[in-house]
Amino acid sequence: MKTAITIFWFRRDLRLEDNAGLYYALKSGPPVLPVFIFDKNILDLLDNKTDRRVEFIYKTLIAIQEQLEKIHSTLDVRYGRPAEVFRQLLDEYEVKAVYTSTDYEPYATERDREIGRLLNDERIPFQSHKDQVVFEKNEVVKEDGSPYTIFTPYSRKWKTVLNNFYLSSYPTEKYFNHFLQQEPIATPTLRSIGFKATGEPFPADRIESQLLIRYQQQRDYPGVNGTTHLALHLRFGTISIRKLARKASELSETFLNELIWREFYQMILWHFPQVGKGKAFKPAFDRIQWRNDEKEFEKWCTGQTGYPFVDAGMRELNSTGFMHNRVRMVVASFLAKHLLIDWRWGETYFAERLLDFDLAANNGNWQWAAGCGCDAAPYFRVFNPALQAKKFDPDLRYIRRWVPELEELGYPPPIVDHEMARERAIKAYNKAVKGS
Ligand code: FAD
Repeated sequence: MKTAITIFWFRRDLRLEDNAGLYYALKSGPPVLPVFIFDKNILDLLDNKTDRRVEFIYKTLIAIQEQLEKIHSTLDVRYGRPAEVFRQLLDEYEVKAVYTSTDYEPYATERDREIGRLLNDERIPFQSHKDQVVFEKNEVVKEDGSPYTIFTPYSRKWKTVLNNFYLSSYPTEKYFNHFLQQEPIATPTLRSIGFKATGEPFPADRIESQLLIRYQQQRDYPGVNGTTHLALHLRFGTISIRKLARKASELSETFLNELIWREFYQMILWHFPQVGKGKAFKPAFDRIQWRNDEKEFEKWCTGQTGYPFVDAGMRELNSTGFMHNRVRMVVASFLAKHLLIDWRWGETYFAERLLDFDLAANNGNWQWAAGCGCDAAPYFRVFNPALQAKKFDPDLRYIRRWVPELEELGYPPPIVDHEMARERAIKAYNKAVKGS
């Protein structure tokens, strides 16, 4: 006879504590088998077989497995396409229900629709719960029910709607005895799914109060350790957004606003999925005549533009998978405006390399920097990379770290003259937007 179970399907919520979908699964009745699927549809697209995000997921799953083994349960990690894996699970178990936490990206929405249909054919309920954001979908909208497209009124409303209920934790630990009691199921190795580990460390998932208290003063200076590096953990749900937002509400309004930016872009992607499929939020900007010079793109990618702030940022990205937010803004603007290279090339480059890559945040911020986004920087305002460096890296601490040859002969001259490039960009943008 098959064992009757509830399945909890982990995705962007890789933790046992304060996990909304898991909480409802554990309370549902039948013993819970937690499942993670290494999705072939996603992994097949990754050319880099030492992709550190896969390594991060793997490391996290091993830690969850250890936690579950201590309470005589196990995590069932599978490799395949989600629909195939679900068919296997339905063959092996009497599945009473499937619970998960909601993922708002276009691929995830389509995938979940397919799984929902498959389960529905077997009369198995599929329940998805909000977990990775404080507010989702239509929870923060204008009075007439339409979505906000400007950040400031959105954030104001977000704070008005907020109360303790939305920030309280889901006490999953009260129900840990509802996990299926079972011998450990071996986790497939990284190698068996085609990847390799580098063994390099990842940013810690600690929330440091002192850092949050100093956040407003320090966050814009890449030479200082002034931001949390938690984006990777928020991306994969190894930290609870509710716990982090509670801390932010106590200690730093500025930091809370950054968390709201994250939700703003998730909300935008959910309401306007076309932005995640290569479309500018403002369609007129899709008429820009990009220069798309491949040699210049290569110099941008490798940090050889002759603009030290830009080069430092790109080298930080290439060697660590991270780049400071201020510098992300400058390099993105530089690509789209100074070089007139399609911002989507840069978006893709970031998507391949950022440890914290998140479609909503990456796309939203690229569109912001390129001037075509919902609440974008005015297109005629072009960052001056030298002035940005002077202001935000006055003692060259950041630049010297990544561009040690700065004052030597080998360092290249600027790839373009700032003033010429600024005028050229404004002309190209004007033509697309105003037709003149
Ligand atoms: P902190 O300053 O400590 O901020 C805390 C958290 O707030 C971050 O972890 C992040 O989750 C959120 N956050 C902060 N700023 C933003 C923002 N502008 N938009 C959305 N969320 C924000 N962030 C990503 O998480 N993934 C991306 O793929 C991504 N791509 C970007 C691309 C460009 C061109 C730009 C300009 C920004 C991008 N960002 C992205 C936003 C931001 O740069 C990073 O979230 C931040 O640098 C991560 O470092 P941190 O965790 O130390 O941030």
